[in-house]
Amino acid sequence: MELFKSMDLEPEPDKSEIKKQEKVRCLIIGSGPAGYTAAIYAARANLKPVLYTGMQMGGQLTTTTEVENFPGFPDGITGPEMMEQFKKQAERFGTDIRFGTATGSDFSGTDLSVTFDDNIKIIADTVIIATGATARYLGLEAEKRYAGMGVSACATCDGFFYRQKDVAVVGGGDTAAEEATYLAGLCNKVYLIVRRNVLRASKTMQDRVMKTPNIEILWEHQAIDLFGENGVEGAVLVKKKGTPEEESVRIKIDGFFLAIGHSPNSDVFKKFLETDAVGYIKTIPGTSKTKIPGVFAAGDVQDPMYRQAVTAAGSGCMAAIDSERYLAGKV
Ligand code: FAD
Ligand code: NAP
Repeated sequence: MELFKSMDLEPEPDKSEIKKQEKVRCLIIGSGPAGYTAAIYAARANLKPVLYTGMQMGGQLTTTTEVENFPGFPDGITGPEMMEQFKKQAERFGTDIRFGTATGSDFSGTDLSVTFDDNIKIIADTVIIATGATARYLGLEAEKRYAGMGVSACATCDGFFYRQKDVAVVGGGDTAAEEATYLAGLCNKVYLIVRRNVLRASKTMQDRVMKTPNIEILWEHQAIDLFGENGVEGAVLVKKKGTPEEESVRIKIDGFFLAIGHSPNSDVFKKFLETDAVGYIKTIPGTSKTKIPGVFAAGDVQDPMYRQAVTAAGSGCMAAIDSERYLAGKV
């Protein structure tokens, strides 16, 4: 199977707003577990990494409370605290951490360049892309109101907090089916809220959902609001929206899980790298190598499957080692 298709690589138009240009050995983009881990390894290997944090310093985990499944923290740790520790460890070995967002890239020639905030151009010997993926939400005001108080986009991360409780999962794809099945093993009852009268999930996943007695599928339902005093206590749904049979339905739940897809933050690099249909950067299996020599990808931005802090950190380590070997001419 051909992993990388050939593409026309047009250089980006010269942006006259570039105010500063700099050459670095190892550029890391993103400050989540993947980016900081890559920085720790790259700094210890004397690659003098420069890391740009993006808008969300510390990444997705800064939006959560307890992280209980990252090894090394037997009593758990809050997401923001954990990411502060990652940052300190990256700084300890000399990572140059800067606030800025990648707004353009040019991997068409021998120079690998990335533009930040439209006005800083970094030319790098190696680039590690660790820009993560963003869970999609429905866009309800209630999702923000109950963030960390019953609303989650990660069953593996937060399911444990809802043992023996009733929860709902929104979505009809493989992720929703997988999350619903996982939660069914922990929770008393799982409602699967599906907007159409069919599931998009694969046949195997559908069968698994259908065979799980404590999953109830609410076909042709859409969530429009959540309610509760000090956290989610229920959801307001609309059944058969826009039809003569339209009706309002209220369910009592303690947790509301979104599983309607993720958007990998790869837009800035897509022109030069191979991505899958959703936008995840393709890497050579078992490595962090992209189709461009010297450009590596780590963490959720290249991982449609696991999307966990520990796997992101592991792949950040791989990207730093791959960069080091690339610079040493070993690969
Ligand atoms: P991210 O953490 O997403 O970080 C991406 C980084 O890239 C950010 O710093 C961002 O600012 C930066 N960035 C993005 N675009 C640009 C750009 N254009 N230029 C520069 N920088 C950019 N996993 C677990 O293992 N355990 C848990 O308990 C857990 N809980 C979670 C709870 C929540 C609410 C969420 C949303 C996720 C949770 N996860 C958990 C998943 C985990 O957070 C991710 O798998 C992990 O953070 C991915 O790490 P990453 O480094 O690939 O990307
Ligand atoms: P997906 O396949 O795009 O499915 C998203 C689901 O969310 C669809 O059912 C969609 O409904 C629903 N949805 C989207 N927006 C919605 C909204 N605003 N309101 C209500 N529902 C909404 O995404 P995914 O499930 O995350 O899967 C992504 C990819 O990863 C897929 O290729 C999948 O096969 C793969 N994956 C595989 C596995 C596995 O093999 N074990 C596990 C997880 C994911 P509609 O169907 O009506 O569009």
